Amino acid sequence: MIRVTKNLALISDLLAIAAREAGRDPDTVKLLAVSKKQPADKILAAAAAGQRDFGENFVHEGLDKIHATAAEDLTWHFIGHLQSNKTRAVAENFDWVHTIDKLKIAKRLSSQRPDDRPALNVCLQVNVDAEETKSGVSVDGLPELAAACTELPNIRLRGLMCLPAIRQGFEAQREPFARLRELALQLERSGLTLDTLSMGMSADFRAAIFEGATIVRIGTALFGERT
Ligand SMILES: *Cc1c(COP(=O)(O)O)cnc(C)c1O
Repeated sequence: MIRVTKNLALISDLLAIAAREAGRDPDTVKLLAVSKKQPADKILAAAAAGQRDFGENFVHEGLDKIHATAAEDLTWHFIGHLQSNKTRAVAENFDWVHTIDKLKIAKRLSSQRPDDRPALNVCLQVNVDAEETKSGVSVDGLPELAAACTELPNIRLRGLMCLPAIRQGFEAQREPFARLRELALQLERSGLTLDTLSMGMSADFRAAIFEGATIVRIGTALFGERT
């Protein structure tokens, strides 16, 4: 587990360097450690080194790890595709959901969020490249979904998330992230209060930070290849 500790220090440095290069305060970029298909002991190693935020894509796998690390007081983000029959477990056990793309899911999460927990933090996933195979609300459908989510009592709309098509090269990678930033700005101009852009992964976090990412979701670069 020495490698996880080392990688964490290295990535934290790279995030801070990118933020400073972009003229930003490094404290405005949060590292979300994506632990899907990684064993709980790697999560514990990262937690011991100070990492607090972890992301999981699969409900049952996520619940197992939340329980296995319950002594650590970690913050759990659901970043996978969420089916309506699994919303209750997510509403009861996670702190964030990054992948809302339908009002039906948002409504279920709000109604199933336990009263003794703070509102569930959510981001809307936007299908920025209009890919048929990918989840996410369309650019056209975003304003209506965002407005409707702000009406739900037990979720708190924090911002937008995207998972763009793979691009090579820094400038090409910036382009979809710039569009997500612009979409968030448009929503803010229409009166919404947002503070989160969840964008950037192992291969493109630098471009995302240049375009304003506040949460970068990093798996492989931190934990190694998934098993
Ligand atoms: C797996 C995953 C990541 C992490 O990807 P890496 O390339 O391993 O950093 C980030 N976001 C989402 C939505 C993912 O599914």
